[in-house]
Amino acid sequence: MYPALIFHSFNNNPNSDRFYDLKIENFISLIDFISQKIKPTKITLTFDDGFKSIIPAVEYSLRKGFKTIAYIISDYIDKDGFLTKKDIKYLYSIGCIIGSHSKSHRDLSKIGKDILKNELLESKRVLEKIIGEEVNHFSFPYGAYNKYAIRKAKTIYKFNAISRPNFFKQKNIIGRISINSLNCHSHNNIWILLRKKISYKYLIRLCISYILKTFLPNKVYLFLKNTITKKKSKDVFKGK
Ligand SMILES: [Zn+2]
Repeated sequence: MYPALIFHSFNNNPNSDRFYDLKIENFISLIDFISQKIKPTKITLTFDDGFKSIIPAVEYSLRKGFKTIAYIISDYIDKDGFLTKKDIKYLYSIGCIIGSHSKSHRDLSKIGKDILKNELLESKRVLEKIIGEEVNHFSFPYGAYNKYAIRKAKTIYKFNAISRPNFFKQKNIIGRISINSLNCHSHNNIWILLRKKISYKYLIRLCISYILKTFLPNKVYLFLKNTITKKKSKDVFKGK
């Protein structure tokens, strides 16, 4: 299976992280490029966080024939800048898979067992009530998990998405490549990653980011990331 791609928000979405916010025309040019290389049905495009600005991107992807999954944070439904219940029903009706991105977007590798269970179950319950169908997909906020979190998620969701390729071929784990404002123009590099031709450069970047994320306080991590990428990145879900 090809890794999926992760997108977040589009067109200077006011509540979103600038690093992950893309111009819709850049998104379209990337997926047009991919659709010339491979049958779109083989590639899954995923949208994390449930921002309202994903609607035209999901519509375009489906028209092109890509499989799409919108992972939604249930506490943010109907909030300013986020999908409403009606939007979620609409996306589901046009063929987008609805998945959960937890209840409140906490780092699931750093919370107690009871809170973790609630983050996983409550969002599933809310989303199932909206679409009237079972929700089988989950993606980890910040791509962060530990052994316990992944084991627990697997007991509740059939498919669990992480924010890196599925290097170890774990069963029912969806590996993904994150598309951001810096790499979205590198069509060829993304195409190479999609074909599982993982470069050392990409691996080193993933490792450094993993180490920094795990061992540094979030504020310091964001400061470093902003300095290195010269982009304003912020954690829009902290302190809400
Ligand atoms: Zn997220």
